Amino acid sequence: MGSIIVSDTSKHYELFERLGKGGVGAVFRAVCKEDGKTYAFKYFKPDPNDVQLMLVHNNIKKNIANLIKTPLKAVGGKELTSFIGPKDMISNVPGKGGFGYIMEFKDTSHCGSIFKSWKKPEQYKPDARATMEICIKIAEIFDRIHASGRCYKDVNEGNIYLDSQNNNVYIIDSDNIAPDGVKTIFGTLKYVAPEVYTTETPNTVSDRFSMATFFYRLMVGGYPLEGKKTVKYLMDNQLDDNDFISAKAAYADRALFAFDERDKSNTIRNVTEKYIPDDHKSSWKIQTVYWDLLPQSIRDMFLSVFSDHLLGEARDRRPSEKQWIRVFDSVLEKGLVKCKCGKYNYSGNKECIFCGKSIASLKVTPCPRNGAAATDFSVTVPVKQKCNSVKFKLLTGKGGEIVASQLDGNDACPSLFSRGQIILSVIDYNKTEKMMKCKNVSGFRFTLSHPNGKIINVVNGASVFLMKGSQLDLLIDGKTALKMSAIDFVAETD
Ligand SMILES: [Zn+2]
Repeated sequence: MGSIIVSDTSKHYELFERLGKGGVGAVFRAVCKEDGKTYAFKYFKPDPNDVQLMLVHNNIKKNIANLIKTPLKAVGGKELTSFIGPKDMISNVPGKGGFGYIMEFKDTSHCGSIFKSWKKPEQYKPDARATMEICIKIAEIFDRIHASGRCYKDVNEGNIYLDSQNNNVYIIDSDNIAPDGVKTIFGTLKYVAPEVYTTETPNTVSDRFSMATFFYRLMVGGYPLEGKKTVKYLMDNQLDDNDFISAKAAYADRALFAFDERDKSNTIRNVTEKYIPDDHKSSWKIQTVYWDLLPQSIRDMFLSVFSDHLLGEARDRRPSEKQWIRVFDSVLEKGLVKCKCGKYNYSGNKECIFCGKSIASLKVTPCPRNGAAATDFSVTVPVKQKCNSVKFKLLTGKGGEIVASQLDGNDACPSLFSRGQIILSVIDYNKTEKMMKCKNVSGFRFTLSHPNGKIINVVNGASVFLMKGSQLDLLIDGKTALKMSAIDFVAETD
């Protein structure tokens, strides 16, 4: 029998074994006498001699009371199932003193973390689809925190669990969610935005930097501002980025994105300099591979946070949670390809990052009409291997229709997308060329340019040969609206 504690709402909880211990509190298993369910009880043991700790506890107590009073809810009032927040409070723990709170009990023993996902990728690395779903859930939580006038303040990846069994994520840390602009906690080194090293007061825009850092660590590994320049600075000055002063000097005073496109002095690509330790070089090599595999739309978001809106007043324009969600949704909808091994990769990737097998694809890039500025929108149509017939459905949106509103808020070529679907089928297959049958239900015109310079008009229902290097152009009003290049065509089973 464990000891019984009574919550502020007069519920009785019996306490059992300790489940874990954090920096400022310990977590125990608890069973509620009233509903018989198992919960987790996080306990904050006081130490009156430690003034700093008591201050931290006091802030956490306020934050938790605030979250119990006005819990975070999804849009529409539903539960945020990925956020394991406080349910009930024990303001005064009898005997031992201090306080604690009750939260949902979550078995995370099978879950991964950022650390595990890079250490043991075969077991813990989420595939491209899971990554998108996980990031959407995290962005939703941040969106709800910010919409409620609060700020997450401290992204600690040790409290974020990745569940690859159901593409879920659990954030089990609500201690530092506090009203925006209130100075409570600094945050985690290398996760905090450059300005926080000076202000020491995280807010919504610095939260957006930290959230993007989490996405970056999940997708690329490493830290966005760690590169050749910062590592050299730390080495030259015999500093270590585990303390505030050194981290500030490297990641605030010398802040520069490792993949910055204008200033490459902090790059991690093709680093050969002798003074850079080998473990950095090998880890940067892997990060570069993962960076290159990302869809351009995601790389652009990282460039927006870590290059364009890194410092000064520009930081107020760091991408919002909703902007991230739109990009992730768009990748989920039309930017993924499933490998035969069952794992999802990003369309356009040549090899599966899990099994190494080839995943050939046909890349489709719509061009804007009437010479409008090019968009970064591109679609890749997956093609599986070994077969005689393959059907490409281009630009599939909801229900296979072409829907302009799904283009990440960009409505270039509205007439192209409002006219329905275009289906191209490869009906014959041999080693060197593919015969393509064109079923053009939209009544658009296609021209096919062969690598030998021959240009063919593709009429509805026609069969044409498509060879490596061919380019298929869709014309609207005589102007190219869609370009498709036949890159290493491989036909599909089914
Ligand atoms: Zn695979």
